[in-house]
Amino acid sequence: MRFVLSGSIRSFFSCLIDFVYPPLCLSCHRLLGRDVEFVCSDCWCSIHAAATESPLFVETAGKLTASGVVDGLVSLYVFEKEGVFQVVVHNLKYGGVQELGLELGRRLGREIAEQGVRADAIVPVPLHRRKLRERGYNQAELIARGVSEISGTPVWSDLVRRKKYTKTQTTLTLNERRENMEDAFESTIKRKGEVKGKTILLIDDVVTTGATIIGCARVLHASGAQRVIGASAALAE
Ligand SMILES: [Zn+2]
Repeated sequence: MRFVLSGSIRSFFSCLIDFVYPPLCLSCHRLLGRDVEFVCSDCWCSIHAAATESPLFVETAGKLTASGVVDGLVSLYVFEKEGVFQVVVHNLKYGGVQELGLELGRRLGREIAEQGVRADAIVPVPLHRRKLRERGYNQAELIARGVSEISGTPVWSDLVRRKKYTKTQTTLTLNERRENMEDAFESTIKRKGEVKGKTILLIDDVVTTGATIIGCARVLHASGAQRVIGASAALAE
């Protein structure tokens, strides 16, 4: 009886909270339907897909594979200024809405499965430990966990470490940014034997210059990985 009562009291309060603060879409601010959290399905559907034949995808994939350390790319969306994806990623990175990372990951995971891409392990691009402390979580790791929910592939977060704390890169030129990122990572001593000969799916939230993915992939190859496939929730120009 006690449990029934406490359950109904809890649901009474959650109804009261919904009544006072009805759950609204973070992007269009319309009332969300039942079983929908944070972003409505119309807004999700309005985000442009990163079609594999689009110039942005072809150019980004070309930059990555030209490095010689990345073997492929899977991306879901196009990052557009003022667009829905920007709202999603802003809430994920700065608003503490961690569930959006998992949801992006599940969506990316379904795309990866549809493209027939398989890997032995999923590695999220690491944050510097100082940034991890500031933010409290790594958004790329949340996406990686969402991908893993779909594929069942394990997430290895302890393989690569970010050794450089990069504050903001907006004052740097594109080339400086690239150089800055390409040697920003190092391998940890963890899983030394396990990486050898494996195919790794390397996850980031947004890929822009590709330098972050390339920097990480270089470290994974040096640790013995055979193939590294980049995957991101979005591509940006
Ligand atoms: Zn909406």
